[in-house]
Amino acid sequence: VIEHGTPDRAIVTTCAYCGVGCSLRAEMKGDRLIRMVPWKDGKANRGHSCVKGRFAFGYAAHPDRIRNPMIRETIDQPWREVSWDEALAFTAQRLRAIQAESGTGAIGGITSSRCTNEETFLVQKLIRQVFGNNNVDTCARVCHSPTGYGLKTTFGTSAGTQDFDSVEAADVVLVIGANPTDGHPVFASRLKKRLRQGAKLIVADPRRIDLVKGPHVQAAHHLALRPGTNVALLTAMAHVIVTEGLTDSAFITERCDAEAFADWAAFVSEEHLSPEATEALTGVPADQVRQAARLYATGGNAAIYYGLGVTEHSQGSTTVMAIANLAMATGNIGRPGVGVNPLRGQNNVQGSCDMGSFPHELPGYRHVHDAEARGVFERLWNVTISDEPGLRIPNMLDAAVDGSFRGLYVQGEDILQSDPDTKHVAAGLAAMDCVIVHDLFLNETANYAHVFLPGSSFLEKDGTFTNAERRLNRVRRVMAPMTGLADWEVTMALANAMGAGWDYAHPSEIMDEIAATTPSFAGVSYDLLEREGSVQWPCNAAAPLGTPVMHEAGFVRGKGLFVITDYVPTDERTGPRFPLLLTTGRILSQYNVGAQTRRTANTAWHGEDRLEIHPHDAETRGIAEGDWVRLASRSGETSLRATLTDRVSPGVVYTTFHHPETQANVVTSDYSDWATNCPEYKVTAVQVALSNGP
Ligand code: SF4
Repeated sequence: VIEHGTPDRAIVTTCAYCGVGCSLRAEMKGDRLIRMVPWKDGKANRGHSCVKGRFAFGYAAHPDRIRNPMIRETIDQPWREVSWDEALAFTAQRLRAIQAESGTGAIGGITSSRCTNEETFLVQKLIRQVFGNNNVDTCARVCHSPTGYGLKTTFGTSAGTQDFDSVEAADVVLVIGANPTDGHPVFASRLKKRLRQGAKLIVADPRRIDLVKGPHVQAAHHLALRPGTNVALLTAMAHVIVTEGLTDSAFITERCDAEAFADWAAFVSEEHLSPEATEALTGVPADQVRQAARLYATGGNAAIYYGLGVTEHSQGSTTVMAIANLAMATGNIGRPGVGVNPLRGQNNVQGSCDMGSFPHELPGYRHVHDAEARGVFERLWNVTISDEPGLRIPNMLDAAVDGSFRGLYVQGEDILQSDPDTKHVAAGLAAMDCVIVHDLFLNETANYAHVFLPGSSFLEKDGTFTNAERRLNRVRRVMAPMTGLADWEVTMALANAMGAGWDYAHPSEIMDEIAATTPSFAGVSYDLLEREGSVQWPCNAAAPLGTPVMHEAGFVRGKGLFVITDYVPTDERTGPRFPLLLTTGRILSQYNVGAQTRRTANTAWHGEDRLEIHPHDAETRGIAEGDWVRLASRSGETSLRATLTDRVSPGVVYTTFHHPETQANVVTSDYSDWATNCPEYKVTAVQVALSNGP
């Protein structure tokens, strides 16, 4: 269905890769997709795209796609292709049998940040209404759950504060723990344009990313901190801002909780948190920290953009709150050019969180303790929702090993590859009696599944994705689902096989239900999206065309809350056996574990994961460029080839995680964020030694 030729029409839809959410025109000839081109009226991308959005869509027609449902009694049996009716009846019977034997809470599900808002809403509805529990979690658990916690605590809502246009009004930009050039390329282009116009850049990253010194851009400061010391660095910057009198007193007095500010200011003023006192810990010269802090506080409009290098730490939530503290202390919130902006990795990670995918939150980030919010859904769905949070993914797997959790529906995520501690994930999955994988391909998790429900690609579905700037973009069906059912229809069919009686005729009706139950989406409808192209939530009576910049007149929580951010070192320590620190990232042409990008025709992109190591560390180990090395940690080991580079400092090594052969998560530890269980992927103590290959 995808071929070359001259198009005769085009359908505007949204890229299914990163959180920039570029609008693309799918150019068609009859029912055949000829090419994807960036849409000039797309408000997130303004006529631009990167190579992934433009050229990496061929996976949708890849022969590895599974087209028919499959079941098996036990995971050591071969798969058996069956009809949708048989697969859904088998699944429903198994799940109900588990509940009859082990209780309502013995099953649960995981939503996907790759799927639409409407599909995600239905999965959490399936779990809360039909399964009868709150055991719903999302793959955002392993990436931006600390963003949700940190920004909700400090500002009152779990989302970035700005639209992408805002960067054009920034005078100073702090990029911390993100590599936009590779991870969010279209946003990176807009940022670089602003830098070429004279805005100043501070990069805080253990690795010398391209933004530090690339074509036409040069960072004013590169704070090459030791992995795992974000909180110490940000607190040292706060120390400078407070002790040198660089705070925005008027903003703090008017907009923030006075008592919390006083406590925080006293805390960060302590001498042991100064740049000089923490220099040995962070590895960043004190003078650089001082200069960067002064620039951020006094350089005009200052914006912060961050990524997984902030969140995937044992102090991920603390780091997000340390960032929010800096923005509030300097009054850099509530107008164009400033703000706190998480660069979301997946196309709909914002939306999957918005849609109630967490075990403690209903759609719109309302806690299950909130009786009024529960009541809205209870009346509409004719069900009682527990006021107790359900199980997070790691807790589900722990309970599975213990035998009390026995059935899991996984939509659009390969948890065996993407979640930490692969051995524990495998043990949990193997212990269950009904694992349902709903995906495009037979992924690694499917090795432990009893039911495989074939999924549909973004080209085959209608719905919406919400990007990193809270923008709801329409996803439009370009071709009919290869499997006969779009993903939302599969979830509805499973709910109905379990007795639900849902009767949605189109995803627009699901959005109508989202709008009717969720105040921040109250004004959203497909009609509005057709008229406006896209809107940013909150979109309701107070903001009928959406909200590009949040917290303009006041914070969503009322007064902004400063939080004391004690630095607590990770338990993942280096030592004689594991003297180096491993951190990880992505490259432009690949995406996460590569399930899509590795299935494109562009084989020149495929490459391999390499280990970047400083020449000094390589020399002491007898390692030369291109040598195979053994990368070992306390959790496990893998093999890959070495690249010698001073992009990383001595003592730090770096790799990507796009290829299943590398199995980077075999090496990572099982430490996680104290507040959200987001795994600490960015800090692993390792040893590297010359090897003979895999
Ligand atoms: Fe897709 Fe992101 Fe590239 Fe845009 S920048 S085309 S959303 S991968």
